[in-house]
Parts: sequence; structure tokens; C-alpha cells
Amino acid sequence: MERLLSFEVFPANTNDGFVKLVETVKALSELKPSFISVTCSNNNQSIEQTTIKIANYIHNELGIETIAHLPAAYLSKAQVKRVIDTLANLGIHQVLALRGDHLPNLPPLTDFSYASELITFIKEIAPDFTISGACYPEVHPDSPNRVADIKTLKLKCDAGCNRLITQLFFDNELFYEFVERCQLAEIDVPIIAGIMPIVNRKQAIRLVQTTKTKLPRKFLAILEKYEHNPQALREAGLAYAVDQIVDLLTQDVAGVHLYTMNNASVAQHIHQQTAALFQIAASFDQSFPQKH
Ligand code: FAD
Repeated sequence: MERLLSFEVFPANTNDGFVKLVETVKALSELKPSFISVTCSNNNQSIEQTTIKIANYIHNELGIETIAHLPAAYLSKAQVKRVIDTLANLGIHQVLALRGDHLPNLPPLTDFSYASELITFIKEIAPDFTISGACYPEVHPDSPNRVADIKTLKLKCDAGCNRLITQLFFDNELFYEFVERCQLAEIDVPIIAGIMPIVNRKQAIRLVQTTKTKLPRKFLAILEKYEHNPQALREAGLAYAVDQIVDLLTQDVAGVHLYTMNNASVAQHIHQQTAALFQIAASFDQSFPQKH
């Protein structure tokens, strides 16, 4: 089985933004990804005009598989059904089923308290949908501990989640430990590693200020040393991401999901640097069973 390479984009809110995004997804489609997923804001009342609009373009104009993200904490069952029906009518049968973050000062609705409840509901109304779910190698921030986090992840998979995509991480060892915990808990769906190449200062600053993700010494050194040299920061950030991906593929990861931040050139660079490794993994898999 081929190692999966997928890309994530976020939707545009304006017509100009949409035109630009179309160019981005066209360039991404030339890299023949397994799918392109489209994020969705968790209080998005106009998902048809944002996430679904570009997902439709990816699926029906470019002929590339697409996954619409669907955070449901602020959606009712009727709204979710409408979204699922719309996607199905467009020929899109894949979602990333999410709870979504709870917004400050805005209590969530009660139809979907957890992603697992959303997955159960989608399986009821659209059994042919392939459902991906989110997972967190460094533990979801709301979870009291790793054990509780893995137990609830197992519930999510038992509800019908077909594949997991991880939160971004910069330390592969944490990913491997997480995969092992999943195996112990008999979570046996493919776990796709989420990788975000850090290629500019704005991204780096936001990351350092807000993330709860472990930033390894080697990675922090890059951000610090090349902070004021855009070209050097870009090159070092891309090299770091390529290094992570080389290691993941060598360790037989089920796939890599690139958080592209709508930057096609980043995906192109990484694809160019790692394409042969994805192919080797594919031929290796023809004679050996998939590990993860
Ligand atoms: P859940 O799986 O429901 O888990 C949330 C918390 O509840 C966890 O702590 C879990 O351990 C706990 N829990 C789950 N089930 C139970 C239970 N039965 N009993 C008790 N506790 C339970 N957000 C967006 O708004 N839009 C996006 O497009 C988006 N895309 C994402 C893509 C990826 C790959 C990832 C990793 C995250 C994405 N997010 C997105 C962020 C995500 O919505 C948040 O992390 C959110 O806080 C959790 O969503 P979830 O689906 O993982 O929740």
C-alpha cells in the first residue's frame, strides 16, 4: 500500500481570496496528493460558501480527493445533516469529523459534545462516508492525562473513524511513542503524521508564543538564528520538515499530511525532496504488511 501524502488548505472568505486559492490548489493537485483537506472555522454558519466551495472545486474540477473538515460543537444535528447531504450531492464522501474548540463566552450547542458523537451520527445518516478524526501525539489540551486521551480516542475509532490525522509536532519521538500507545489500546486505523514546515518569521513567532507543542532545541536554534534572514529561515525550516518526513517514512509511517498554510511552493519543495521515498515505501509495502 502506498504511503499517503496529503495537503491541508484553509478556505477563502472573499472572491479575490477564492481566485488566489484556486491557483494554490491547482498547483497542489499537480503533485498528485492522496487528498487535499479543507479546514472550517468552528463557528462557521456559511460553510457552503467557504469550505464546501473550494472542496467542490478540488473534487469536481481538479479530480483530486478532498476532505471537508467539519467541527460540530456549534452545529445542530439538522445543520450537520444539511452539510453531509450537500457534500454527498457534490460527490464528496469524506469528512474530518471534529468537535472543534470551545470559543470563549460562547457556550457550545449540546447535539455534539465530542467528535465521537458526530461520527456516530454521520455513520447513521451516511454510512458510505469515510471519516477521518483528529489526534494529538502530545495529548489534547482538555485531557487530564495520556490514559484518558487514548481511551477517548479509542471510543472515537470504535464509533467509525477510519483514519486519524495528528496535530502538528516537531519531535518525531513523541509521535512514535503515541503510535505505540495507540497500538496498545488496539487503535488500528492508519495514523497520518501532520507536519507543518515553518518558513517565515510570522509563523515562527506565533508558534513560539502560542503552541503547547514541544519545540526541540535544534528547531528553536533555527528560529532564533535565522529569525531576521527570511531566505535562510525558509531554507532551514524546509530542511527541518524534510528531515522529519525522511525519518517518518523510514520508520514506515502510514502517511504524511502537510499543513501547507496555502503555500504551494512549500509543498512543491517538500514533494521534490521526498518523492522517491514515498515510492520506495510503496514498493516495500507490497511484500510486507503495514505496521501502523
Ligand atoms: P474530541 O475528539 O471530541 O476530543 C476533545 C476532548 O474531549 C479531548 O480532550 C478528548 O480526550 C475529550 N473526549 C473525547 N471524547 C470524550 C468522552 N466521550 N468523554 C470525555 N472526554 C472525551 N478545528 C477547527 O475548528 N477547524 C478545523 O478545520 C480543524 N482542523 C483540525 C485538523 C486536525 C488534523 C487537527 C489535529 C485539529 C483540527 N482542529 C480544527 C482543532 C480541533 O477542532 C480542536 O483540537 C478541538 O479542541 C478538538 O477537536 P476533536 O475533534 O479532536 O475533539
